[in-house]
Amino acid sequence: MRDWVIVGGGPHGVHIAARLIAEAGVSREDIAILDDEEALLARWRRCTRNSGMRYLRSPAVHHLDPSTRSLQQFARSGRGRRVAQPFTRPYSRPALELFDLHCDKMIEELGLGELHVRGRANSLAIFDESVRVGFSRSAAKDGHGQLEASNGVLALGAPQDPDWPDWALGVKSASSTAGHPAAIDHIFDPGFELVDDARDQTVAVIGAGISGSQVAIRLAREGRHVFLLSRHPIRVHQFDSDPGWQGPMNMAGYSRLADPRERRARIRNARHRGSVPSEIHSALRAAIAAGTIEHFEDVEVESADFNGGQVALALGDRRLEVDRVLLATGFPGHRPGAGWLDDAIKLYDLPCAECGYPLVDRGLRWHPRLFVAGSLAELEIGPVSRNLSGAQRAGERIVAAVRGSSKNANTLKLEEELVLT
Ligand SMILES: Cc1cc2nc3c(=O)[nH]c(=O)nc-3n(C[C@H](O)[C@H](O)[C@H](O)COP(=O)(O)OP(=O)(O)OC[C@H]3O[C@@H](n4cnc5c(N)ncnc54)[C@H](O)[C@@H]3O)c2cc1C
Repeated sequence: MRDWVIVGGGPHGVHIAARLIAEAGVSREDIAILDDEEALLARWRRCTRNSGMRYLRSPAVHHLDPSTRSLQQFARSGRGRRVAQPFTRPYSRPALELFDLHCDKMIEELGLGELHVRGRANSLAIFDESVRVGFSRSAAKDGHGQLEASNGVLALGAPQDPDWPDWALGVKSASSTAGHPAAIDHIFDPGFELVDDARDQTVAVIGAGISGSQVAIRLAREGRHVFLLSRHPIRVHQFDSDPGWQGPMNMAGYSRLADPRERRARIRNARHRGSVPSEIHSALRAAIAAGTIEHFEDVEVESADFNGGQVALALGDRRLEVDRVLLATGFPGHRPGAGWLDDAIKLYDLPCAECGYPLVDRGLRWHPRLFVAGSLAELEIGPVSRNLSGAQRAGERIVAAVRGSSKNANTLKLEEELVLT
């Protein structure tokens, strides 16, 4: 039996595996990473590629290697030197290409690819001395399997399916029946690759957060006429939450809140949902001024039809006809894990807050054998939990719990300073 099974091979699962090896003395062979994608980080790479982002929103110290300065050192050596403009201002944010090459290097060096077991978790059993994760494998002949280990980590990321408004589901069904399934897509659909098609002269992008805005800019650069539709004016924030949430400045008070409803309220208020950093705002304004993007703000799609190869969107007293619709409406807010996790919660009485998310200890233990990370850890880690820095926090907490120690305040302060340099 292995020591660890990590469910989810996204940035969180990969970082936690790396920390366990580098800092908790766990040997590589004692870890399995279960993920239904064909490779580790595949979902991250597809979502970031589809969004057209060139630089990360987060600073250079937020990456997947346990060593803080690793990404900056990598940019000056070996494969990292191939990236022409490795960082951008403000906050020294890495190019997506650099970040991905750095992930490749770490995965190769630690041999993490060999720990990947392809499959989708569909059951969880917890015993006194172990956890057992059952999974299905749609691509393989032997369609199911199970992994047992002394400890489990759930690093599931966002729910599998992104947020599809009802009107969009109707258009998908009508356009698929008519043989034009690509008339509408969500940029975060499982398996979706955004390929520009010159026949789609006009494209409506729904949602003007960072991903929708970047998709609009990318398609406009590729020669499409883009309508960017949002419920609100463009919101400009450098990060998706204030940098104070990276360390004790905001987290000290948050950690003292005993009521999970208050923690949920703080998270909701702290997140700058649907916002863009200033350089994306500038690029949007330039495209709007050049006439390649038309921004319709404060609009809601009330209904939509697919007819004659085009999608017609009813926006109050306006009607817009386009060749293609791309949804950038994010992911639903409910807890990931679907029915199998609900079953385990009931069976093992795993504590949850009113909002449905796990109540865990400081070491992110939901049960003596089971840890969580990412979205599932957010009531403990706070508003940055889903981000790359949240993966770092989760990795530190889990390693500290395993080693029976906890972080001291000086280390937290140092991290906060690094974020702000
Ligand atoms: C376009 C985009 C850009 C972003 N840019 C930044 C940024 O610049 N900086 C930053 O800090 N954050 C950023 N984020 C936020 C965050 O860092 C990413 O969403 C990141 O991918 C979260 O990592 P994760 O491992 O929690 O989730 P994911 O990347 O979603 O990985 C979870 C993995 O678990 C697998 N999985 C889920 N359920 C199961 C199951 N039942 N069985 C097996 N496998 C399962 C999934 O298939 C997936 O491979 C960005 C997010 C997006 C969408």
